[in-house]
Amino acid sequence: MNCKKCGNPVSPDAAFCGVCGEKIEKEVTVVNAPVEKQSWAAFVLSIVGLSLCASGIVGLILSIIASSKAKKPNAALAKAAKILSIFGIIASAIFTLYWFIYVIIIVIGIILGAATA
Ligand SMILES: [Zn+2]
Repeated sequence: MNCKKCGNPVSPDAAFCGVCGEKIEKEVTVVNAPVEKQSWAAFVLSIVGLSLCASGIVGLILSIIASSKAKKPNAALAKAAKILSIFGIIASAIFTLYWFIYVIIIVIGIILGAATA
């Protein structure tokens, strides 16, 4: 990073600029804030996705969104969101397949019922 006043490159842990003596503002918290929020969003989404896995496609979509948002490098939270969303994707995919087969069986039943009637 550089000094805001004179543009001289300063080390990230320096408190003051070595050239002009300007106080160095720490950018760490500012940069981390949106990432932190996104990790929380991914975490909440992954939980919602997993708890809605029985609905099939809805849980699958939410889990995929959570998985894509969990890419940001916020260690523990993003990792938890990633793991939960993977479980959500697997569980939702199984339920989606289940509902798909269920609908096909019903459709076949209707067709057979109509054929014999
Ligand atoms: Zn300076």
